[in-house]
Amino acid sequence: MAKRDYYEVLGVARTASPDEVKSAYRRLARQYHPDLNKSNPKAAEEKFKELSEAYEVLADPEKRRRYDAMGFSGVEHDFGPQGFGWQNFTHAGDLEDLLGSDLLRQFFSQAAAGGLFGGFPGMGSSGWGRSIARGRDVEVSIRLPLAAAVTGAHPTIEVPRSSTCASCKGNGARGGTALETCPQCHGTGQVRRASTSGFTQLIQIADCSKCHGTGQRIKERCPTCGGTGRLREVVKLEVAIPPGIEDGAVLRLAGQGEAAPSGGGVGGDLFVQVELQADARFQRDGRNAYTEVRVPLATALLGGETRVPTITGEAVLKIPTGTQPERQFRFRGEGFPQLRGSDRGDLLVTVHVDLPEKLSGHQRELVEEAFGSGDPSAARPRSGLFGRRG
Ligand SMILES: [Zn+2]
Ligand SMILES: [Zn+2]
Repeated sequence: MAKRDYYEVLGVARTASPDEVKSAYRRLARQYHPDLNKSNPKAAEEKFKELSEAYEVLADPEKRRRYDAMGFSGVEHDFGPQGFGWQNFTHAGDLEDLLGSDLLRQFFSQAAAGGLFGGFPGMGSSGWGRSIARGRDVEVSIRLPLAAAVTGAHPTIEVPRSSTCASCKGNGARGGTALETCPQCHGTGQVRRASTSGFTQLIQIADCSKCHGTGQRIKERCPTCGGTGRLREVVKLEVAIPPGIEDGAVLRLAGQGEAAPSGGGVGGDLFVQVELQADARFQRDGRNAYTEVRVPLATALLGGETRVPTITGEAVLKIPTGTQPERQFRFRGEGFPQLRGSDRGDLLVTVHVDLPEKLSGHQRELVEEAFGSGDPSAARPRSGLFGRRG
């Protein structure tokens, strides 16, 4: 595939400012993030890499100057002989800003696992290079009622994953007995094949076909897992959802994902995405909650009580005599708690006053007697531009 011009890749003009370059990369990185393209992650990864290479060059004034002057040959020495690789990407720090911390967590745990991108330099637990065997991450989502944001919750979730076979402790041999050295490669995991072509001798090194490069062989397969060392299962786990959780938050349970492929190594992580059921009665703004109630005109005029929904139940609101429409009342400590904290925000209740749409003749007489005829000349001008509220 012919290499595309970096400006074309990011869809920016050659005169684009650094900010324009960055925002183009931000937009496209979201679009082609492999996590968001589950139907074709391979293609998305290629695309993401192409974008990141273009960004690597155009975001750096010095590299961009050389690219502008000499094209690809001006920057090829910045990358390895195979061209741009993730080890050349120096803007990993920008990605938090680009992808949001939740997505980023998933992203880097996969990258650190040598999964999607084979790791970023200085990122994740294993850093750049060949990482230790690590199981894949697993993502599940749960739906909870809004009240869980106040009380917290301990739902039991079902996680489909591979776990280490208990019978062989993951090594795939019956009873977990020690593996034996592969007789074909004598434990090296590699075989050399020499062939002569004209005056040159060609030596090819390949993974041993008998042990697939591991250098070890199972004498007798574990009957429970058939020698794979892993079992597919659905595990039930209780998850602690802390009070203060927000809709869309992702909890990470380290090591609760898939077992490492070889039985050794570390398990992947489990990411639990929390979805809070929308409750049309409430709006959330940080720790405060907002709701509305309607009261009849008589209650607003004469005072009284009304029931108010709270996030976890109900409360009684005293309506003072002469309550104005849209007045807001505050229930201290009835909002959402701080994440993992105890301080709760407030519940703010806006009171709407129901005015009757029609009056009987008798009602009309009473209103006129009490408040006047409704003659426009009797209306008082409002004080202040917008009147007074609450
Ligand atoms: Zn072998
Ligand atoms: Zn087994």
